[in-house]
Amino acid sequence: MGLIRTAGGREWHPGERAAGYWLSCSAAQRLLASYGKAQVMTKESAVDVAVVGAGPYGLAATAYLRDAGLRVHTFGEGMGSWRTGMPSQMLLRSSLRASSIAHPRAGFRIEDWYAEVSRPISQPIPLQDFLDYASWWARKVVPDIDPRRVAQIWRTDVPDPGSKGFVLRLSDGALIAARRVVVALGFESSARWPDEVAAASPDQAVSHVADNLDLAGFAGRRLVVIGSGQSALESAAIAHEAGADVQIVSRSPQINWLSPMLAVGEKPPGLPRPPTDVGGVVTGWLAAAPDAYHLLPNRMRRWVQRGCLRPAGAHQLRARLADVPMHLARRVDKVRVVGEGEVHVALEGGELLTADHVLLGTGYNVDIRRFGLLSPELLAAVRCSEGMPQLRTGFESSVPGLHFLGSVAVHSFGPINRFITGTWYAGPGLTRRARGQRGPAWCFAFSVSPDTGTLEPRRWVSRRQSRS
Ligand SMILES: Cc1cc2nc3c(=O)[nH]c(=O)nc-3n(C[C@H](O)[C@H](O)[C@H](O)COP(=O)(O)OP(=O)(O)OC[C@H]3O[C@@H](n4cnc5c(N)ncnc54)[C@H](O)[C@@H]3O)c2cc1C
Repeated sequence: MGLIRTAGGREWHPGERAAGYWLSCSAAQRLLASYGKAQVMTKESAVDVAVVGAGPYGLAATAYLRDAGLRVHTFGEGMGSWRTGMPSQMLLRSSLRASSIAHPRAGFRIEDWYAEVSRPISQPIPLQDFLDYASWWARKVVPDIDPRRVAQIWRTDVPDPGSKGFVLRLSDGALIAARRVVVALGFESSARWPDEVAAASPDQAVSHVADNLDLAGFAGRRLVVIGSGQSALESAAIAHEAGADVQIVSRSPQINWLSPMLAVGEKPPGLPRPPTDVGGVVTGWLAAAPDAYHLLPNRMRRWVQRGCLRPAGAHQLRARLADVPMHLARRVDKVRVVGEGEVHVALEGGELLTADHVLLGTGYNVDIRRFGLLSPELLAAVRCSEGMPQLRTGFESSVPGLHFLGSVAVHSFGPINRFITGTWYAGPGLTRRARGQRGPAWCFAFSVSPDTGTLEPRRWVSRRQSRS
């Protein structure tokens, strides 16, 4: 977004101090109105918070912020990446206790939805069940999701410190003013294409699991799946069951299988793991306390991340892949499309695999530069470590009022931010910051009722504050 030309012919730069007014003032209203289809925001109608993204993080953030009395506008396709970026036959990797979207009040967990629609609880949870639950949740809590995409965000740099804010340009050209912005885009534009495959892309014979192909469509075809994380293994299992001739290639010497999911109410054997279901006994508890993780030196943070985010497959996939050939401890040297619908996968050491299609389950490189969302001025002002913003309390970046939730928050608040379960920490933390309230020095990412031992909703204010 460059200059905006007003009806009177005056040019105005979004980041210009000389603009001198908050967008809600009358001059700015005229400015917005003069810009094509711009939506005019009055002081009263400018939102307190614009939430960009309507996945689990954007939805939970909206629920908490509204519970705190803030005016919130939420953009994006409701659960967009779950609907369009995952195989429809998928089963969730997270267990029942770690698959609810956070809400400050009781009655919104996935168990509550199963009870309300009288459907038997299913573990692992089928994707369709989770999507139905999320639609039910969103209908009750955020029925007004705005499906428009946000094209760009920039900061209004005005002299009055009480009046700083942001402007969002939407896909249809409309402009929206907001005092705070929460970016929750998940793995948007983050699919990782390794160098050895780059020469083969883009091609119809090579795709990434994020492209969400119809895996049943591979019946009778030769498919090489590269990777040994959940999405690679799950895609391989679904295609194999559909009748594809599947092989898996992984540089890991073995597949890391996750422990079997606990049945509802079952006590875990051995040392207890946190109910977040992310990581092992030590790394899992560190990850379950994001405030403690935040204080760790970088070396320790990386160790916790490795323990929690290493490629692994859900236990249920083990039997489903028993007949699928696996080339383990093998690096791919090169992937090359050799002819009409034929691909060669050369492995280090000389072996050559031939396939009709290569599917990359090679993970995600999350980097806010790849979102293409922030204006150059705003992007330059966000302090980052390896593409992830350095966040402080309340998930606020080095730009006051600009927050990031979800996978880009892993560097600052740990691996649970890659999973639905992290919404229970993110929602209250963000909201306390937006309301200028202090939280406890540290807290777990879940809350357990002392009476029943079950997970309970987490408020954004502490019990002490809510009593006073
Ligand atoms: C194959 C796969 C399986 C997974 N399985 C599990 C699991 O079993 N359990 C688990 O806990 N986690 C799982 N995850 C991780 C999961 O992605 C995260 O838990 C969760 O989706 C993160 O939520 P989010 O809100 O940050 O992002 P997302 O759910 O990715 O939502 C992103 C939102 O941003 C919107 N958006 C994107 N660009 C724009 C734009 N420019 N303007 C406006 N809106 C925009 C999208 O429409 C969408 O609404 C899985 C991930 C993958 C890829």
